[in-house]
Amino acid sequence: MDPWAPMRAWAACLDWSARMAAIRWTRAGGPPAIEAVQRERLRVLVDFARAHSAFYRKAYRGVAPAVHAVGELPIVRKRELMTHFDEWVTDPQITRRLLETFLADRGHIGERFLGRYVAWKSSGTGGEPGLFVQDPNALATYDALASLQLQTMGMAMRYGWGLLAQGGRAALVTATGDHYAGIASWRRTQRQFPWIEARSYSVLNPLASLVEQLNGYQPAFLASYPTALLLLAGERKAGHLRIAPATLWSFGESLTAAAQAEIEAAFGCPVENDYGASECLSIAFGCREGWLHVNTDWVLLEPVDSDHRPTAPGKPSHTVLLTNLANLVQPVIRYDLGDSVIARSSPCACGNALPAIQVEGRRDDLLTLRAADGGAVRLLPAAIASVIEAAAGLRRFQIVQKGPELLALRLGERDARDRQTSWRRIAGALSQYLSTQSLGNVRIELEEAPPAADLRSGKVRQVIVERRD
Ligand SMILES: [Zn+2]
Repeated sequence: MDPWAPMRAWAACLDWSARMAAIRWTRAGGPPAIEAVQRERLRVLVDFARAHSAFYRKAYRGVAPAVHAVGELPIVRKRELMTHFDEWVTDPQITRRLLETFLADRGHIGERFLGRYVAWKSSGTGGEPGLFVQDPNALATYDALASLQLQTMGMAMRYGWGLLAQGGRAALVTATGDHYAGIASWRRTQRQFPWIEARSYSVLNPLASLVEQLNGYQPAFLASYPTALLLLAGERKAGHLRIAPATLWSFGESLTAAAQAEIEAAFGCPVENDYGASECLSIAFGCREGWLHVNTDWVLLEPVDSDHRPTAPGKPSHTVLLTNLANLVQPVIRYDLGDSVIARSSPCACGNALPAIQVEGRRDDLLTLRAADGGAVRLLPAAIASVIEAAAGLRRFQIVQKGPELLALRLGERDARDRQTSWRRIAGALSQYLSTQSLGNVRIELEEAPPAADLRSGKVRQVIVERRD
């Protein structure tokens, strides 16, 4: 064991509380104070990107040396950034090849990359693969923002009580099979603060097995996708799941008001709602009024239409442009994130002065399939998506439930050979996964049609139900 680990953990704790105090101090100054730090951080980020990223230096050639507003900067997209990965990052030691080698080993999830960074990958909403590197300042900022949110929600007291009553055990139910942001940042925190008792569980676990493991562990804090929390809420109501967490944390998908109410009623504790992305872990946090408040002291979020003009409050945007003010190693500046959001037009009744939004996309369906014995088995969209991503790389796809024992796969690839290879791999992996869920009877077929966009949000959802019976 590293003899300096306790000292380092202690220093991290001091840094953590100092950061929380600084965020609190800025926000106490209201919108003018927040806008002032936002402007200063944007200036630092843009200057740094110009000085150390060949990609941004080229992209900003026609931009004035002093940037006063984010709107003066060009928009960037994942595909072009990934194509120019080595020029995008600001640390010359980082190369795409080196990072891909590191990420190819799934034994390294959440471990430090080049001794100081944490890295993860994602398919994102557009299905375009992305590789992301976070520097120590960004990671510490995400930690501080999340901790502050727990305090603001009055959850610190509840969680504090949970700490005493249940040894402070924390549980995460997520896709654990690869370097995804959720599991990588969880493992990183575990390494940094080894005295926090924390366990992670794979979403691929059959429900009965997951319930049994959680009953044995008795977590005080439980974090997962809203669909997984809903499924567990059902098990809690049925009396199978016998845990009494002090706090629940929802991430990765949109949490509807109805789902939130159902989960809270089942567990008798509040659910915190988190909106983040691989490009920035802590974009916004939920409030009691059902809105998400953007952390505008560390994040800029611009809802825009298809021509990238600002969208009026109250109207769903085509996409959002994200600027992460915390991460200098891989600058994300006016990045087309792809989500559709609605900005609130009036101050939020909860009293939080940070701008409030609702996210339209990121809403996959829970599947209810029929097992060979006639029983119903519910499957998490995140589990199905992670099986497909692991089998065929990170690609654009859609799974459609067409009946109680029938699933259809739609692939985005045009090239015929790629299509056949992807289909063979996905069909094999999905069949294997379905049989672990007692669903060996369920058929999977390949559809000619490409993934279809949702009529409401205009976004492609990965897992949808067309017909249950
Ligand atoms: Zn609010």
